[in-house]
Amino acid sequence: MRGRNINYKDGSMEKAIVMNTQKFSLHDGGGIRTLIFLKGCALHCPWCANPESQNREIEVMRKPNLCIKCSAESCQACTQTPVFCPTGAMAEIGEWMDVDQVVSIARRDSIFYDATGGGVTFSGGEPMEWSAFLKETVPKLKEEGLHVAVETCGAGPMEGYRALANSVDLWLFDLKIADERESKSMIGASFETLFSRLRLLRECQAKVVVRIPLIPGFTAKEANLIRIADCVRALQIEDIHLLPFHQYGEGKYQSLGREYALEGASPMTEEEAERFKSIFEERGFRVQIGG
Ligand code: SF4
Ligand code: SF4
Repeated sequence: MRGRNINYKDGSMEKAIVMNTQKFSLHDGGGIRTLIFLKGCALHCPWCANPESQNREIEVMRKPNLCIKCSAESCQACTQTPVFCPTGAMAEIGEWMDVDQVVSIARRDSIFYDATGGGVTFSGGEPMEWSAFLKETVPKLKEEGLHVAVETCGAGPMEGYRALANSVDLWLFDLKIADERESKSMIGASFETLFSRLRLLRECQAKVVVRIPLIPGFTAKEANLIRIADCVRALQIEDIHLLPFHQYGEGKYQSLGREYALEGASPMTEEEAERFKSIFEERGFRVQIGG
């Protein structure tokens, strides 16, 4: 797998970099959920809506439109620390948290989870790149009776998937590009390597929903979706969620001073999404548009 050289041992500190948490989410696992985003992902999908989640380190994000030039000619030229910035034009993304801190955040809304069939979802970035941290955290959440989902793209060590396969209640497993060469060149990872984690989860009888982002020019191609459908059907997975392209991440690339490959691309229409949905329905899957 291409990408940055990630030292998986870092996770054994029982701490992880939490990018942010989101309460009262109605997505990503059912019911009312608390989403916990862990920072760091070895892939580099050009459409990534959370580019600030990719680096496995705390970093500074800049919003020039908030800069009042109190200390420099521009936000980009400013050498102050984020804590000094009076307007939030510079902000630190990510915070080291230990297992107990994360469990404490997760349990705060347990009354809402109970009433709605919700729970906690780890997302990212790629949460399985913090699998040692999750191996400590998930059992504690389960001891409290909380439903736990993990959203993953299949990156991270195989051993982590094996260890967590049955303690996680629901895996939301993203698949993107089935062609091996295109997968390596476009997102920086081998499809077969990512898919091997999904195969392992199914061998362990884990509950899995496969999710596919529909990205014009990248994943949203009939041949690609048919290949993914064939691979997934062989694992007896029944549920597919299709996630149509949107432009929510565009401004973040500017804030990080990075180029955005899908600048100006149109959001996917309902008709297009329905057309792609029918590819999977014709093959016997239960299909949902949106996560
Ligand atoms: S401290 Fe903040 S508002 Fe002031 S110049 Fe720096 S970035 Fe701009
Ligand atoms: S796998 Fe997800 S978090 Fe990682 S780069 Fe791709 S879209 Fe972004």
